[in-house]
Amino acid sequence: MADNKELTYKEVWDNLSKIDCSDKVEKKMNLSYLSWAWAWGVLQEHYDKLTIDVSDEIWKLLGQSVHTILERANENNEDTITEQRMFATVKDWTISGQTDSIDVKSKTLKDYKVTSVWSIVSALKEGKAEWEQQLNIYAYLYTKNTGKTIDQLNIIAIARDWNKNQYLRSGGDYPPSPITVLNIDLWSDEEQEAFINQRVSIHQEAEVDYLINDKLPLCTDAERWRRKDTYRVEKKGRKSAVRVLDTQEEADKYMDGHKDSKLLKVVEAKGECVRCANYCDVAEFCNQYNEESK
Ligand code: SF4
Repeated sequence: MADNKELTYKEVWDNLSKIDCSDKVEKKMNLSYLSWAWAWGVLQEHYDKLTIDVSDEIWKLLGQSVHTILERANENNEDTITEQRMFATVKDWTISGQTDSIDVKSKTLKDYKVTSVWSIVSALKEGKAEWEQQLNIYAYLYTKNTGKTIDQLNIIAIARDWNKNQYLRSGGDYPPSPITVLNIDLWSDEEQEAFINQRVSIHQEAEVDYLINDKLPLCTDAERWRRKDTYRVEKKGRKSAVRVLDTQEEADKYMDGHKDSKLLKVVEAKGECVRCANYCDVAEFCNQYNEESK
């Protein structure tokens, strides 16, 4: 673990002010502005206090290197569009997204993810809303920018912790290879547009609320990667649960007529918010999370 407590606002400013962002300036009425400046302002308030786990950054570096290799590999391939940033105007805001790869002939849009085996297994079983939303936004941007359509969406998931022995031992859901291609549901044009409009509205309302009331919106359970609550049937004198069930009713039913029912009790375990606890850089300063963790 390394922290950056030594950073001063001056150093942050010196670094940031070297970045030329003149091409990102937008205009509305008589104002010239960077629409995300307010968000950056919030981050800057805490920038010198943030603690970053450098070991996590290694995986980001690996992810970036995959993109660089991909870009080089497709340099002269006319049938593949690689790492293209596309823009669209939605409710007077400019939105943009950068696709990893589009195979023009097969009309397939692909996004590469370096992730854990656990994420892949979970996405194969239950789908992953964030991946589905991201790729459908890219498909929308592609159609808006080119007038052409996308027929297929794929996530190419590279498992950073895949292990052959583990695969041979586990079998079952464990992916047979470190690379898994996931087919992602393609929405209709109308569904894509409705989703994007809704998200932009949420951001616009949040911006106004923050500027006027100094309040940030609460993250949803889905955004926090909240695991579901469980009901542990525990037995006196035993550390691990006898059974872990999804509902109180199931737990009650299990206990009913059980030979040791007098020694059993049901304990509700609140589902952990995985992102807050492990992956959110601002968790330390987040009222929502800190209030709940008390
Ligand atoms: S820590 Fe706060 S900001 Fe971060 S995901 Fe959790 S609720 Fe959202």
